[in-house]
Amino acid sequence: MSSKFKSLNIYKIVLQYSILVLLLYMVIRPFFDSSYLADFETYCPFGGMQALISFLVNTSLACSMTETQIFLGLALFIGVLLFGKLFCSYVCPIGTVTEWLGSLGRKWKIQITVSGIADRVLRVFKYALLFITAYFTVESSELFCKEYDPYYAIVTGFGHDVVFWYAVIGLIITIIGSIIVRQFWCKYFCPLGAITNIFTYGFGFIAIIAVYLILLSFGLTISWLWPFGIITVLGFILETVRLKGWKLPPFKITRDEILCTDCKLCDEACPIDIKVSELKTVEHIDCHLCNDCIYSCPVPNTLQINKKERRWLPATAVIVLTIIGLFAASYIELPTINKKWASDEKLEQASIYSQSGLKNVTCFGSASSFAAKMRRLKGVLGVKAFVQSNTVEVYYDPDILNEQQIKKTIFTPSRTLLRNPDKSISQISITTMDIEKLFDSYDVFYFTKLLQSNKGVFGFKTKFGEPVEANIYFSNEITSAKKIKELIESPELTYQSRGKTVNKTLKFEVSSVSDSIGTVSKLNFIKEMFSPYNKIFNGYRNYKSEDLSIYRIPMPQALSPSAMRNIKYLTAHISADTGIVRLQTVYIDKPYAQIYFSNELTDSNSVYTYLTGDTLRFQYSTGKKGERINTFVFKAKGHVIPVTPKKRETK
Ligand code: SF4
Ligand code: SF4
Repeated sequence: MSSKFKSLNIYKIVLQYSILVLLLYMVIRPFFDSSYLADFETYCPFGGMQALISFLVNTSLACSMTETQIFLGLALFIGVLLFGKLFCSYVCPIGTVTEWLGSLGRKWKIQITVSGIADRVLRVFKYALLFITAYFTVESSELFCKEYDPYYAIVTGFGHDVVFWYAVIGLIITIIGSIIVRQFWCKYFCPLGAITNIFTYGFGFIAIIAVYLILLSFGLTISWLWPFGIITVLGFILETVRLKGWKLPPFKITRDEILCTDCKLCDEACPIDIKVSELKTVEHIDCHLCNDCIYSCPVPNTLQINKKERRWLPATAVIVLTIIGLFAASYIELPTINKKWASDEKLEQASIYSQSGLKNVTCFGSASSFAAKMRRLKGVLGVKAFVQSNTVEVYYDPDILNEQQIKKTIFTPSRTLLRNPDKSISQISITTMDIEKLFDSYDVFYFTKLLQSNKGVFGFKTKFGEPVEANIYFSNEITSAKKIKELIESPELTYQSRGKTVNKTLKFEVSSVSDSIGTVSKLNFIKEMFSPYNKIFNGYRNYKSEDLSIYRIPMPQALSPSAMRNIKYLTAHISADTGIVRLQTVYIDKPYAQIYFSNELTDSNSVYTYLTGDTLRFQYSTGKKGERINTFVFKAKGHVIPVTPKKRETK
């Protein structure tokens, strides 16, 4: 084997390149697989640490936080205690790239060594960033690091979570800093570097947490910011004063002073600029056991790990800990939300209703809406939701509620117009079927897709029951109740989504079909199916009826559920005119939009201009501005009508 190959840190190189190839794959895949959504933070242990803090403080996990992150964060914690900051050199893509940038700086001979006071003072930035990141993550229940993380900004192409200027500053610090000073970002700015250094003082860190938990157990109310702030400040002080860990980690680079020829190749190789040739044992806090010094040393057995040939150890530890973290994450599910609003005494007496397969409980937002909905039901004492398995647990008072009432509240009735009956059809047949396994909104989505494939079916309505009762509206000249039943019981559904063919296994069962099939007129059917929309804004309630007018304009798309999914953007857009105060849809002889406006502040021309603009402009809840093409078409002009007290009602 050539000596050049022997000096290659092969374990590290294989791991670093594997991570980069994986990331490249995640970046490229959406270009040929539109259904793939890359989540670049899924495997980030720093995201996991933030998620864990957020989970412990809020007892909830936001959508961007996963068990995988948390367990990889815990694996990182164990890794730091036992082996040191392995993640930084073997896994972190920023570590890899900044290492390359450092080599470039050395090649260009523009690299400087920051030492003494400057080196120590600069270390404060990563602790400040750690505190700020944890604070805003807990406050917002979103991973704040995404806003400035140079890695996240690059791989997502400055995705919507990224705050442009934060990320640009982060990138400048990372790129220019790392060319001039070895691992500038890692040493001075990386909040994960700060947290891993804090772990290196593991015993002190655990002691502070223990004291905090004891104080809480005595009933004291102390914000998590206190222990976290103390840990952060102490971490900074200990790091700057000592520049080495506190007994941990047990594994360290050792140098045999007798064998050493003082060639200083190890100093040159160290990506973090540690003067290995001057030390007997590398205890420096920045050492991440990358082994580059060992591989660079020309004298065998001079540099080792704890005086033994263990260069395989760090990479093996990374792989084993990652596998354990992923394994634990696949077996243990943490609740996305765990909200209780009753006293401990009441909760001890509570019954628990558990339901799996709620495919509409998919993230923090939908779990929170579910909890909010359940909270309105008298007798419900708390809710736990597990989004990975789409499971909910409802804590309730059995003296007030029973399971049936809870199930009924969870159920969302549906009213769906599939297509408009054509002009030749004046009467529409109705059949009632009892359908098993038709429960949540995802079931309704597949059910809708199934019925859409039969041109003779125009719509359906569902009502709670066990099984669920569905009224299906159809033309008996085109199809029949028997054919519809067969269709509903199809074992598989195939449909197109974003240009892809999707196959879905279905398990709907029709347990009964009513014998009597009724009919309804076409107009009554449309009215029955029409789902009105109504939104008030811009201080609607402050106006008297006589101060307002209604601009009524035909809106055929008000009958289309797919078109109406975008109505919130139209609402946000027109609300930019402060004189527009309400948007509703109504069915009279056909569907209309009714826009309420202040006679003093605006007029119908302005309303019409807003409605028909090419672009809809709006603001996300984060304050970020967005825009999208206006898909609403208003072919006919509208007319203005006065507002009567009856019309003014908001429901
Ligand atoms: S001292 Fe050796 S193991 Fe530690 S960071 Fe430097 S090169 Fe890597
Ligand atoms: S590379 Fe090896 S021989 Fe050279 S200074 Fe470092 S420890 Fe000594």
